[in-house]
Formats: sequence, structure tokens, C-alpha cells
Amino acid sequence: MDESLNSPCAELRQLVTEYLEEVMTGEELAWFESHVHECGSCEVHVHEVKAFVGVLARCGPEPVSPETRQRLHAAFREWRAEVDQ
Ligand SMILES: [Zn+2]
Repeated sequence: MDESLNSPCAELRQLVTEYLEEVMTGEELAWFESHVHECGSCEVHVHEVKAFVGVLARCGPEPVSPETRQRLHAAFREWRAEVDQ
């Protein structure tokens, strides 16, 4: 399966971290949720990322600092690059 960068699935995957951080708003959020509902592979992807972020979040009791968040994003991007190969 060859997903182009413009496919809704690829776009959604770019937005997963925003979704999980609950910084997504209005139309974007509505689009995200409706796509996840109708697309099995994206649903699985969101669950995987949620689990991955949850593991990192459990590493410490502190609220996530901007620095940690940056590292999380970097780690997530590396992880996703591996998964998408
Ligand atoms: Zn999808």
C-alpha cells in the first residue's frame, strides 16, 4: 500500500500528537475523530501512539515540561519513521 503524503491517513498521522495533547480544535478535531471512526488502520495507529505516549508519560510523576514534550515529539517521530518503513 502506497500512501501519498496528501492522503487523509498520512495527514492524520501528522496530527496524532496534537490530538493526544488535546490542542486540536473545532473542525480539525471533528475531521480527525470522524476519520479515525471510519478508518481501521488509523484507529489502530492512534491506539499505538497513545500506548507509546502513555509509556513515556509514566516515566515520571511531573507534569510534562516543554522540554520533555520536545523530546517526546522527537522520539515519536523516530519511532514512527521506523514503523512506516
Ligand atoms: Zn486513515
